[in-house]
Amino acid sequence: MTSSASDSKARVTIIPGDGIGPEVAAATVHLLDAAGASIDWVEMKAQPITSRRREDVEADPLVQSLLETRVGLKGPITTPVAEGHSSINVALRKALDLYANFRPVKKLPGIQTPFPDVDLIVVRENTESLYAGLEHTVVPGVVESLKIITAVASTRIARFAFDYARRFGRKLVTGVHKANIMKLSDGLFLECLRTVSKDYPGITYREVIVDNCCMQLVMRPQQFDVLLLENLYGDIISDLAAGLVGGLGLVPGANLGEKCALFEAVHGSAPDIAGRNQANPTALMLSAVLMLRHLGQPEPANRIERALHYAYSERRHLTRDVGGTASTDEFTQAIIGSLS
Ligand code: ATP
Repeated sequence: MTSSASDSKARVTIIPGDGIGPEVAAATVHLLDAAGASIDWVEMKAQPITSRRREDVEADPLVQSLLETRVGLKGPITTPVAEGHSSINVALRKALDLYANFRPVKKLPGIQTPFPDVDLIVVRENTESLYAGLEHTVVPGVVESLKIITAVASTRIARFAFDYARRFGRKLVTGVHKANIMKLSDGLFLECLRTVSKDYPGITYREVIVDNCCMQLVMRPQQFDVLLLENLYGDIISDLAAGLVGGLGLVPGANLGEKCALFEAVHGSAPDIAGRNQANPTALMLSAVLMLRHLGQPEPANRIERALHYAYSERRHLTRDVGGTASTDEFTQAIIGSLS
């Protein structure tokens, strides 16, 4: 693109992914264009990143594109279970040092759940712990997985969570852990959170053991505000929290670091419904709303959010996962039709 009009547009790397990814990504791009977002899309495919050498990782075309555009919107990418290549999602987070995973969990109007007023922020450390997938076979029949927790990463994610809380008027940060059992690793995580919390006197800091946190979330989720977790607990609690507000089709997310911001839904590639025009694109659309605000384009973000809220409160043209009968395309057309 050479025109001056396109020069003022934000360049964004779009990664459709696989499974339902291409369907929800196409729906989202269509909606953003209709809402007047000023974006030049750079479409890229994701390939497994097998090498751990920095030069090889940085030579990956997708990593290069994200380092150049500094902003990406990503559909889900399947990770094979118990075999095959390691997770591309994890490799990207590591390669780009996307250390903060940010997931706002809030009920949309019109969605019926037992908890009308859930409004949680899940902040997940994104680079270490067991989720880094560092494991090997010691001898046949015995494997070892390494849980690495560092003070640097724990302090950094704690700063992110408390800074967010201070900036957006959140009053409570809860550190989630299993330090009664993993006294050293989760113990270090907690020690860093406690230290950081002292710099934020206006914000209450509490701690909860992860299994108790699960029970409390399904009984009284309103008691939580910002949940701050290491990587694996953050992955699990995110899906649980999505269930509190109507399911995985609805919850957006962002992976944030100094070099780049990569926006993606909490859900995975949902192979059971892939290619059937049944997927709910709301989670990626709301991730794109976060992205537009990050890009300094609040008007199209607000228009999309208003149209989504209208569709859900009217409960017309909703997809099957939230009790409707509409296809992905019908839902998307309805949202575009109600942009104001
Ligand atoms: P991963 O481990 O890759 O994150 P996951 O275990 O969280 O994946 P998903 O692929 O997200 O699993 O799917 C879990 C269930 O939720 C599936 O039954 C799927 O059909 C449903 N689901 C997920 N995303 C959507 C969506 N956008 N629209 C409708 N249903 C969805």
